[in-house]
Amino acid sequence: MRPSRKQVGCCTLCRKEVFEVRARWPKGHPLAGEVRKIGSPHPTARCCRLVLMSGTQCTVTLCNTCKPTPERLSELWTICMQAGAQELEDARQIAIEGRPIPEEQRAPYVSAVQQMVVDLPIAVLSIHRWEEDDEFAARSR
Ligand SMILES: [Zn+2]
Repeated sequence: MRPSRKQVGCCTLCRKEVFEVRARWPKGHPLAGEVRKIGSPHPTARCCRLVLMSGTQCTVTLCNTCKPTPERLSELWTICMQAGAQELEDARQIAIEGRPIPEEQRAPYVSAVQQMVVDLPIAVLSIHRWEEDDEFAARSR
């Protein structure tokens, strides 16, 4: 289990599983036991859209009990930034599908994580129940 609190298919704040788990990383893999592939969202899954300082939006997954209050936004974003940094490290060491990402292809990942440090969330745009046609398909791996 990685130190990052953010887990695939789970609430970003409390790590409760909110998506059907289709596969986990096998024993012996550096991510052993973590969710590898997700399926449909549970009724408790919430899709939260945030507005960032740059005006762009991003989506985070929450459960039905965690609320993105102003007090918890910085905690939420810290978790996302740590997860981004963790993914960079994963990409260097183990990669997503078993092959390390070549150094020259890491640049977009690095700049995305660097951008997160300066592009902070300023407001919650919406929060609604995750539906099948939300972005989850693109998020499963
Ligand atoms: Zn939660």
